[in-house]
Amino acid sequence: MKIICIGRNYLDHATELGNPVPSEPMFFLKPDSSILHKRHAFYIPDWTNEVHYEVELVVKILKLGKAIQTRYASRYYAEVGLGIDFTARDVQSKLKAAGHPWEKAKSFDGSAVVSEEFISLDRLGKSIQNLQFDLSINGTKVQVGSTSEMIFNVDDLISYVSQFMTLKTGDLIFTGTPSGVGSVKSGDKITGTLEGFQMLNVNVK
Ligand code: ZN
Repeated sequence: MKIICIGRNYLDHATELGNPVPSEPMFFLKPDSSILHKRHAFYIPDWTNEVHYEVELVVKILKLGKAIQTRYASRYYAEVGLGIDFTARDVQSKLKAAGHPWEKAKSFDGSAVVSEEFISLDRLGKSIQNLQFDLSINGTKVQVGSTSEMIFNVDDLISYVSQFMTLKTGDLIFTGTPSGVGSVKSGDKITGTLEGFQMLNVNVK
């Protein structure tokens, strides 16, 4: 399986990092080795001094698809989860400046936190474009997002990405982060909710 991550999909986050607002979706990949093992702590790697959290709605792809038209995209998912796209921001800044790929900063071991639970949209009884989620560090809310604020909606993202790469059953799409990203430090306890459900619980070491 692969993890497709969408960059700069919330206006307030794109601007907080000083990036231009994209005119089409941008994405990068995390390999399956980047997934943080269930109930394991997240260890800050020794080669970075600045790891940022980014909370994101995660969409699970339920069947194979290629060149999917936007109007059929909703047939390719039924469940959503919550994830953290851990990013070595200091390393990413250097890679960006050099025009190099981001993988070192984005795709390292443990950099993809995925909720154990995925919740069906039927159970939530809501549109995928009207879901509220948040992230707290040591009990203080640091990011609050609503999927209604996405620049490119989920169906557009699925259509766009599938023009370039086949989506396979079990692939995950991290749909971008709202504003409020920041650094983690050893000892932090990170929790996240989606529509009121506790989805994430990660200790930082
Ligand atoms: Zn992200």
